Amino acid sequence: MPSYKAPLRDTRFLMNEVFDFESHYKTLPNGEEATPDMVEAILSEMAKLCENTVAPLYQSGDEEGCRLENGQVFTPKGYPEAYSEFVAGGWQGLSHPVEYGGQGLPMSLGLIKHEMLGTANWSFAMYPGLSLGAMNTIQMHGTDEQKETYLTRLTEGTWAGTMCLTEPQCGTDLGQVKTKAEPGENGSYKITGTKIFISSGDHDLTENIVHIVLARLPDAPAGTKGISLFIVPKYLPGQIGEDNGVSCGALEKKMGIKASATCVMNFDQATGFLIGPPNQGLECMFTFMNSARVGTAIQGVAHAERAYQASLPYAKERRSMRALSGKKDPEQVADALIHHGDVRRMLLKQKAYAEGGRAMAYFTAMYADHMIAGMLENDQKKYGKWDSELGFLTPILKGFLTEKGLEAANEAMQVFGGHGYIKEHGIEQIARDARIATLYEGTTGIQALDLLGRKVLLTSRGKCVRSFSKNLVDFGRQNLKDAKLRPYAWKLLKIAAEWNYLTTRIMLAATKDRDIVSTASYDYLMYSGYAMMAYFWALQAATARDKLEHGGNEPAEFYKAKLATAEFYFERLLPAAKGHADAALKPTRSTMQMSAEHFSFDYE
Ligand SMILES: Cc1cc2nc3c(=O)[nH]c(=O)nc-3n(C[C@H](O)[C@H](O)[C@H](O)COP(=O)(O)OP(=O)(O)OC[C@H]3O[C@@H](n4cnc5c(N)ncnc54)[C@H](O)[C@@H]3O)c2cc1C
Repeated sequence: MPSYKAPLRDTRFLMNEVFDFESHYKTLPNGEEATPDMVEAILSEMAKLCENTVAPLYQSGDEEGCRLENGQVFTPKGYPEAYSEFVAGGWQGLSHPVEYGGQGLPMSLGLIKHEMLGTANWSFAMYPGLSLGAMNTIQMHGTDEQKETYLTRLTEGTWAGTMCLTEPQCGTDLGQVKTKAEPGENGSYKITGTKIFISSGDHDLTENIVHIVLARLPDAPAGTKGISLFIVPKYLPGQIGEDNGVSCGALEKKMGIKASATCVMNFDQATGFLIGPPNQGLECMFTFMNSARVGTAIQGVAHAERAYQASLPYAKERRSMRALSGKKDPEQVADALIHHGDVRRMLLKQKAYAEGGRAMAYFTAMYADHMIAGMLENDQKKYGKWDSELGFLTPILKGFLTEKGLEAANEAMQVFGGHGYIKEHGIEQIARDARIATLYEGTTGIQALDLLGRKVLLTSRGKCVRSFSKNLVDFGRQNLKDAKLRPYAWKLLKIAAEWNYLTTRIMLAATKDRDIVSTASYDYLMYSGYAMMAYFWALQAATARDKLEHGGNEPAEFYKAKLATAEFYFERLLPAAKGHADAALKPTRSTMQMSAEHFSFDYE
């Protein structure tokens, strides 16, 4: 199995040279402690934990999987110890309030921590990752008592959390949720129902598990307006070990992330506590949805990086035939794979998606920092502004980056040839693990609908595209006169115009034919992803060029490789955007004209 090395050079390049996180942290109310020394310590300590403790469990965890015995889920060998090490390091509360035991550092640092942990071993990262969802929900909507009781333990990491939304009949359409909540004693509720596909629903890593559950109060209105949110602990506080009517009915058998326990959870008159106002459960749940989605977008970056780290050494080692331009390793029986153009295409694609995606995620994480700053300063206007900016970026990141992570994992497998399909090399595991990222936390289709339908058309009538694409225009104008950056500048100016044109054309078409919002949405999302990544590759190219001329923290070869990868992205990957733009503009007829009965004549 390939080992994992944290890509610290790239992280530092982005944080220090492309985006200037040091100055960014000085603008935040919780940024004071995030000094360069502190950031460096976090990066290097996290890298050690990931490389030495978490990554070595990646393949063994996949082979062993989780098991359910007498109602208790057990994680694979080594997981409890690795999790204890994670907790002892205080990692869970890195970006959560000091008053509840956290370190109170900016959210972006939490995201970078999550990226390393997830790249080392996504299944492992799911356990603390799901807890973050519960922590954010309680922090935002819980009473002081709920925060004191639950948030403190969750922040320590001695208790873990889950998000229980999905039921057998609904995952996307949560208006169909049936789980019931009936008033119980002392303001509590009795929760009854079945949730499926619950990540970290049960496990042996912590002494208690805090479930955040969507359920309906008696007489609640039908649909999304009648759903409330509840805290339902596995064990009630002070009663650890005593049954609260929460049980894991089964473990799902699944394609990948096998060391992550995906549970059917039964709630049988379980005692729970309302969190947030009645019937506003979905709104409460979605408060932190944007940052949660960036957390899942990171999975795309993680798998592209992991795939690249695995396939690159293989391409240097494995030999096959001779390079078309003449022998590269004449003393050997054949040249290494890396000398063949088509293999280079596959490697560069993975590298471009991993590093381009990382830049997109770090930039978005700075927006999340500003949003949290608004919350900490009790400035609703500021909070709302950054939340809405994030709202535009997150479906693009989640949809595009997870699709590209999967593509990168497939390319890595291709680099290995038939050996990629054989378990021994560990590549097929990366491809299996990557597949889930496009499905949960909102499928790619749902991200696309959210982006085009809600964020672009309904909420902003294209303003969010105009606003973001201004970055591309500014880069274009500033760099047109620079011979080396001119190709990027031209291209970005063109894309900015095309992106807005595409948006206006779809907006006009939608006034006559609403189906176009759905038929165009996937291609629109992919176009937006390519466009956004182009901007971040141009930024990286400009920084690399500047550092080559004036000196930077990294060796010249690092910056040259950045420039070469940027060129590859613009020449070989970005052209795919044009196909998506063409497809998005096509009338709905070819997709919608056939009746549902005529999709087949041989079977239902
Ligand atoms: C391993 C794993 C872990 C998970 N972890 C959790 C968890 O921790 N907590 C939790 O609550 N859930 C979890 N889920 C559930 C996951 O979030 C859902 O499976 C996902 O949201 C999709 O819902 P669904 O499966 O019901 O698909 P459906 O909603 O039935 O969708 C099926 C297809 O139809 C498309 N579709 C649906 N509606 C529309 C529409 N209006 N327009 C266009 N296309 C549409 C979708 O994009 C999709 O392609 C997990 C799932 C898995 C497999």
